[in-house]
Amino acid sequence: MDAEIIAIGSELLLGVTIDTNSAYLARQLAAAGVNVYRKTVIGDNAKRIEQAVREALDRADLVICTGGLGPTLDDVTREAVAAAFDRPLEFHQELLDQIAARFAAMNRPMSESNRRQAYVPAGARVIPNPRGTAPAFLVEDARGTVIVLPGVPSEMRYLFETAVIPYLREERGITTVILVRTLHAVGLGESVIGERIADLMQQANPSVGISAKRARYELRIGARAESQAEAEALIAQTEAIIRERLGQYLLGAEELPVVVARLLRERNLTLALYEGIIQAPVLHALLATPEIEQRLRGVEIHPLDRPADEQAASDLAAAGASTVADHWQSDLALGVQPASILNEQGFTAVAFALVTPNGERRLTRPFDLRSAEGREFIGTAALDLLRRYLAEEPE
Ligand code: AMP
Ligand code: MG
Repeated sequence: MDAEIIAIGSELLLGVTIDTNSAYLARQLAAAGVNVYRKTVIGDNAKRIEQAVREALDRADLVICTGGLGPTLDDVTREAVAAAFDRPLEFHQELLDQIAARFAAMNRPMSESNRRQAYVPAGARVIPNPRGTAPAFLVEDARGTVIVLPGVPSEMRYLFETAVIPYLREERGITTVILVRTLHAVGLGESVIGERIADLMQQANPSVGISAKRARYELRIGARAESQAEAEALIAQTEAIIRERLGQYLLGAEELPVVVARLLRERNLTLALYEGIIQAPVLHALLATPEIEQRLRGVEIHPLDRPADEQAASDLAAAGASTVADHWQSDLALGVQPASILNEQGFTAVAFALVTPNGERRLTRPFDLRSAEGREFIGTAALDLLRRYLAEEPE
């Protein structure tokens, strides 16, 4: 079954309200095994909503609309959907009674405009809304089914779970399961990862996608099957291939800081930091995870006042790390030293040294120090140096 989502509300088009309903619906439909091929956002305009619904019905079997069911005149979804089915709106006394009862329960007078909410397209199935005044409804003809849900996110979610999901299972025979597993990788470039798993990224089921943030990669494996066990088996197969291709660069289900925090805890190790960059990206990376922060005994921020060459930077990083390890009596110490003072040039060699009870590990790589974003890569590199030592992986 193919579905489309239509989010209705001028506030969504103006960017005043973020369209979280569509994202929720897309996730839920995917999990239920329904293909979502398009999402539309449209303002509160009856003609345009009608047209959007007609077009969606031409393409999809199921159209889920959200929004525009309020009592005021600017909410025109009811009228527009009725028009898309060439049907009039029909008054439902029982809906008005429910709305009136809701106001009575809240001890508030019902306004005349709430009468509007007692109308649904002729022949529509009413989905009562115990969480609000706007009832939802379902209309269908030979072209397909349109389900209209309120825009208020909590009401929309409630009705999706209690009415739409049962409808899909009981009346549309949906049994498909979609499972998504997220794996984290670090230390390789995105293009290198992309090349190693290019064939997997082309396959449809399981599908493999990758997204990158500051040299940390998220790989998503999505599998569709007729049972949970089958979907899990498909994911496990693909995960094994990815593991083999990415080797030590694949972290697994845990993100980099979580892995580092866990390894530090398991080995009961403490840490100190010497950092030669005034904005202290490595300190920020360490402080971002409370469990790592707790293991941090001391920090010295000491920017260079004159440029050094790469070898000198590396030696300074190692010497700084040894100094802070002594000073704070930590088990491990990281030293970070760029080979030049902050400049306009862009990329600068940054030297890392990790001083440990079993010796020292060093790494020098170019980074863009100019932007906060560029500096975040330095935090990732330092955490990964730590991780690889802690996981007893080769340098
Ligand atoms: P409506 O049903 O159009 O009266 O919407 C009621 C309220 O729900 C709006 O004022 C928005 O705050 C919110 N809302 C409507 N549509 C969405 C959406 N697609 N995503 C998130 N919030 C929404
Ligand atoms: Mg609205």
